[in-house]
Amino acid sequence: MTDTPAQEAPPTTPSPRRRKPPRRVTVTAVSKIAPRLISVEVTGEELDGFAEAAPTAHLKVMLPPPGADRLLLPEQGPEGPVWSHDESLRPVMRTYTPRRYDPATKTLEIQFVLHGVGPASAWAERVAVGDEIAVAGPGGRFAFDPAVERWWLAADESALPAVGTLLDVLPETASAEVHIEVEGPDDEIELPSAAKTTVTWHHRRSATAFGAELADAARSADIADGTRIWVACEAAAMRGIRRYFTRERGLPASSLVTRGYWRAGEANHPDHDYGED
Ligand SMILES: Cc1cc2nc3c(=O)[nH]c(=O)nc-3n(C[C@H](O)[C@H](O)[C@H](O)COP(=O)(O)OP(=O)(O)OC[C@H]3O[C@@H](n4cnc5c(N)ncnc54)[C@H](O)[C@@H]3O)c2cc1C
Repeated sequence: MTDTPAQEAPPTTPSPRRRKPPRRVTVTAVSKIAPRLISVEVTGEELDGFAEAAPTAHLKVMLPPPGADRLLLPEQGPEGPVWSHDESLRPVMRTYTPRRYDPATKTLEIQFVLHGVGPASAWAERVAVGDEIAVAGPGGRFAFDPAVERWWLAADESALPAVGTLLDVLPETASAEVHIEVEGPDDEIELPSAAKTTVTWHHRRSATAFGAELADAARSADIADGTRIWVACEAAAMRGIRRYFTRERGLPASSLVTRGYWRAGEANHPDHDYGED
């Protein structure tokens, strides 16, 4: 008996990768959470249908380039976005965390660290109510597992908003040991959660020793079986922590989520650096 050949799928024309067009929004509130952390609330009709973001999800934020007074966006053509303006007017695009979204008022909160250099940080230094930006997303592959009972979190200030989103969803049956590295005591903020949390604030030991305190916290961590580890900070520091946990402690890669949120000396670090290289 001869095998029936497997049915071939009909040829398909590959469709171009479609991204949802960016949504224009207007700044409605600006406040300082800490001297170097600015909360910006935006709203707009185009946020209608903005998906409820999973914890630690990210957005693309589009800002007017330095020197421009308004935001121009590409036209949406049949083959994707088309840019018909001067190259110097292209928006600056950076990755941020949707800290909160309220569908009733279509209000999205984004928190910007003022780290000193870079167009997004500079924009957040001078942002005012009425400013227009655009957001695209949310995206990210993190799947929150509510059954996990123990968490070990380590983050620098760029990942404070993401830590906030995670602590917001932890149930009261969970416990979380949280290590945050910031510049100094002024940067410490409230991190409420229903879970049992212990938050340790580490002050950067020198201006450029990014993540060194988090690496030490990892070395002295008591990680019980079943603990989920989540780390987000400067990319090289994140890699050091990831290597330590997987190679020296022998923890399974499946117990860790590690993310490089920025890299020292590099502008616009990619949004998908999981350190799995
Ligand atoms: C998934 C994800 C979520 C993120 N969420 C947030 C968020 O909610 N809030 C937030 O503030 N950031 C967040 N970030 C980090 C943010 O994308 C970067 O800090 C980004 O580089 C800022 O853009 P910029 O234009 O200010 O600086 P860039 O032009 O990108 O960089 C200019 C210079 O500044 C340095 N730099 C960049 N970020 C920092 C920093 N945090 N501290 C010190 N030096 C830095 C760079 O190394 C470079 O030398 C997130 C990143 C990722 C990947």
